[in-house]
Amino acid sequence: MPELPEVETIRRQLAPRLQGRRVNDSHSHESEKFTPAKEAIGTTFQTLNRKGKYLIASLDDGRELIVHLGMTGSLTIVAQPPDDDPYIRAWWQLDGDETLVYRDVRRFGRIRCVPAGQYDTIPTLAAQGPDALSPDFTAESFYQALRNSRRRIPTQLLSQKPVAGVGNIYSTEALWIAGVHPAKRQISRAAAAKLHAALVQVLKAGLANGGTTLRDYRNADGGEGSHQDALACYGRSGQPCLSCSTPLQHRVYDARTLTFCPQCQPR
Ligand SMILES: [Zn+2]
Repeated sequence: MPELPEVETIRRQLAPRLQGRRVNDSHSHESEKFTPAKEAIGTTFQTLNRKGKYLIASLDDGRELIVHLGMTGSLTIVAQPPDDDPYIRAWWQLDGDETLVYRDVRRFGRIRCVPAGQYDTIPTLAAQGPDALSPDFTAESFYQALRNSRRRIPTQLLSQKPVAGVGNIYSTEALWIAGVHPAKRQISRAAAAKLHAALVQVLKAGLANGGTTLRDYRNADGGEGSHQDALACYGRSGQPCLSCSTPLQHRVYDARTLTFCPQCQPR
């Protein structure tokens, strides 16, 4: 699933190419998850922002076109809308004869068009915490959010409520760096500060590497990220911990398989 580094990579590539472009035509898959794409016809793209894993394009009529990439979504700009790809769920034809294409094999993504800032129809966006790379994400705000929940720390992270933009890959990496066992439900203020710093560190590293491509993720140019080569814990169960050489383990918590070091991340 694209997380903050992958979505931000796409945003940085698309923002200058969409700015000032008018949407002359649009087409979408019949699912109501994608039909709002067509509401952008006749508008002009302004800025492209990101909140957590949501891409938010300001339109010149005061609305926002919002895209969540789900598990397998991608956005690319191509010369022609391909007519033989069954996984294209929406496209927007831009002036200048280019087309912005939304492709999503598993269809967990979604597209919305709403008045700017009105996210009541997008509850996960409305309820999410501060973006992980925004100044609002502080060690103290993070600690306070974590201590108000009894859920496991990874489950809280994936809920997007203590912080927005983190998924399974970068949370696994950050928990390993901070030495937090994935079954933990409560951590100290000092541990929360370590985890906060680790999250920022791994997300910035992922962004610097253009994201993580394990299978599906492609950036807006169709290229792959390289952070998969830098992962220390995620996907390495059974291999030696890079810090202490103990074999990494994996266990299922809250229906997700999580990898950790039993030595560096004591229960
Ligand atoms: Zn270890």
